[in-house]
Formats: sequence, C-alpha cells, structure tokens
Amino acid sequence: MPRPSLSQRLDAARARRVGHEAVRVERVVDGREGNRLNIGGQDLLAFCGNDYLGLSQHLDAVAALQEAAAWHGVGSTASHQVCGHHALHEALAEAVADWLGYPAGLVFGSGYVANLAVLTALLGEGDACVQDRLNHASLLDGARLSGARLRRYPHGDAEGAARQLALDPEAFSMLATDGVFSMDGDIAPLRMLALLARSHDALLYVDDAHGVGVVGPQGRGSVAAAGLGPREAPLQLVTLGKALGGYGAVLVGSQALVEHVRQEARGYRYTTALPPALAAASLAQVGLARAENWRRAKLGALIARFRRGAQQLGLPLMDSLTAIQPVLTGDNGRTLRAAAKLESLGLLVAPIRPPTVPEGQGRLRVTLSSTHEEADIDRLLDGLALALDDTGGGAVRPAHLLLNENP
Ligand SMILES: *Cc1c(COP(=O)(O)O)cnc(C)c1O
Repeated sequence: MPRPSLSQRLDAARARRVGHEAVRVERVVDGREGNRLNIGGQDLLAFCGNDYLGLSQHLDAVAALQEAAAWHGVGSTASHQVCGHHALHEALAEAVADWLGYPAGLVFGSGYVANLAVLTALLGEGDACVQDRLNHASLLDGARLSGARLRRYPHGDAEGAARQLALDPEAFSMLATDGVFSMDGDIAPLRMLALLARSHDALLYVDDAHGVGVVGPQGRGSVAAAGLGPREAPLQLVTLGKALGGYGAVLVGSQALVEHVRQEARGYRYTTALPPALAAASLAQVGLARAENWRRAKLGALIARFRRGAQQLGLPLMDSLTAIQPVLTGDNGRTLRAAAKLESLGLLVAPIRPPTVPEGQGRLRVTLSSTHEEADIDRLLDGLALALDDTGGGAVRPAHLLLNENP
C-alpha cells in the first residue's frame, strides 16, 4: 500500500468545505476606529469584535504600551522561567487577582494556550473532566490533551453535569465551564455548578473570557455576578483580548493552585513570555475596566435597546443578556446570505457556522460595545430586518420608528 497522498487529502478537505459552504474568509482590515472598520476601501460599521468596553484603543492603554516599549523593547526575549518574566507581568497578575478577589494570578500568552496549560497541569490519565457541551474549543482540547476522561453534558444542564460527575466517583474530577458562552451569550448556571462541584468534591474551573469586564459588580465577571468567589470557584481564567481590549490571559486562584500551574504547565514553561509592553497596556485596561462603570451601564442600555427592537421585529434572538446577541439563521447558505446582505448595507456581522456551533444552528453573532451609539443599534436592526426577510419583499418597518413608538 502506498502512503495516502497529501494532495488528495487537501483536495478532499477543500471539496468538503466548499460543499458545506464552510469556507472561512479572512477579512483584511486596513484601518479601524472604534467600531468603524475600513476593509477594501469600504467603511463598515462592525458588530463582531469583542472589545465590549471600547478599551482596545483607549489612549491610556496606548500610552502605557508605548512607554513600556520604549523602556523594554518589543519582545520579552525569553520564557518566564529563563529571563522573560518582568515586573510588569507581576503587576498585571496581581491587579487582575485583586480585582476578582483571588489571592494569586499567572499571566499567559493567550487564553487558548492557558486552557491547554491549566488542564494538562491539573489532569492526567485516570482523572475525569466534566464539561458543558458548548464550552470553548480550548477547554475541550485541553481535556483531550491531558488524557483525562472527557465527559460532556447538555448545554447549561446542571443535572446533566451531576450525572456525569457521578460516573467516576473515585477519580479526581474537574468541572469546567465557560462563564459567559462565547457563541450563545448566556451565562452558565454557576450557583448550581458550584454546589455540585462541592458535593461531588470536584474542582470548579470557570473560563470567563466574555464575562469579566462586562457582567457582575465592578465588572468582576459571572462568578461574582452569581454571588460566588474563590471558595466556590477556586480557579478562573480571565482573557485579556476581549472586554479588556488587549492580548493574553491571566489565571487566578489560590497560591497553591497557581503555583502548581506555574511549576507544571508546559503551556507556561515552553513559550516566550508575553511582551512586557502588552502587560503594561493590559494593566492600564484593567484599571479602566474596573473603575469606569459608565461603560457597562452604556453597554447595558444598548443591549436592552437591541433586544427590544429585535423582539418587535420578530427576530430569532437567543436567551442572552450579555454583549453577545446572536440572531439564529440556521443553515450555512442562509447564514452567509444574511451576512452578505448586511455587508452590502455597510454592516459587518460575523456569520458563525458549524463546527463552531451545532449543526443547523448557524447564526449572526452580533456583539455590542460601549463604543456603539443608539443610532448604530437602530441601523443594525433595520439591516437585520432586511437581511433576514427571506420573502424577498424587503420592506420591513424601520426599527427606529418602532423604538420611538415604544420607548
Ligand atoms: C476567546 C476565548 C478563549 C481564547 O482566548 P484567546 O486569548 O483569544 O486565545 C478561551 N476561552 C473562551 C471562552 C474564549 O471565548
């Protein structure tokens, strides 16, 4: 038997992507100011970034990055345990831990790597990792890489989680969940999961990439919003690339847990440390996210306006109160046509297809930011009404008129 051919493999994968309308297109952004993107000479109003608080271009963060780069240069030159670990990493880890009320923190190069690192450092063969079916890919991949038995329960189903936890009563077990789910925008039933974790003696790990900064008192995330803390959720991941508008991630937990990960995680040891200038930028962004409640208040008002308008238009919204407001479209063809129609109207919304979401649950993943204005929301609603009107008739009552009728 000859070896399988590489070119046949590539051709088969390409044919499958094309056949399923699953080809991903990367947009080349030439410039950006807030939610205004310039792509190929066209100005687009974007509802697809995760810069929920508008901190990615904040002048304080940019100035902090520039100043730190002037002192420390661009790269960190080494991994943390060689000589790449700077005072700015220490300060950032401490600031995030202090904000969320945890004793210790550890900086990672990205959220994806952090989850692989944390799960492989804490789990091994013979252990169990119980996860929500819709958890982020990095949590699922981390569990697989660890060699632990991965057991998944239906989305948001605490009873399902309990059944899965009961299957390995003698194995060391972790219960891992997104705080805010990245494609649905809903929040995990954390109080129930925390009770379960306690009664089954499992470690609860919450990846709150889309919650920290956006929900909870002072933006402390979905764990704090549920009235929980380090006792109930001993380990949390905060990503810096979403609401904080930077790049990287910080793990927070007890001294013992964080020290274990620092010592054991390959995803921490065998990679170059985050550039210190990026740590400086994130430090500034953490301060802003923590202090400036008006950003969350404004975002909350925009979310409410969007949901009110979408409900009046009869758009298929999901059960989300966060900045992620998906509009269900179903199959790939419809998802792509709707996104293309929006784009022709100058609106950029990400079409999300399987395998990122379950089969048949394609959607337009609308994300809102405190940098949007009410008029932007109304423009989006008008566009969605047109883009989702499959009758071809087009004329749907403009959303802003409806909103003004019923403020
Ligand atoms: C985005 C995201 C990650 C990955 O974080 P990056 O810093 O972008 O690598 C991990 N978990 C969740 C839930 C996310 O949404």
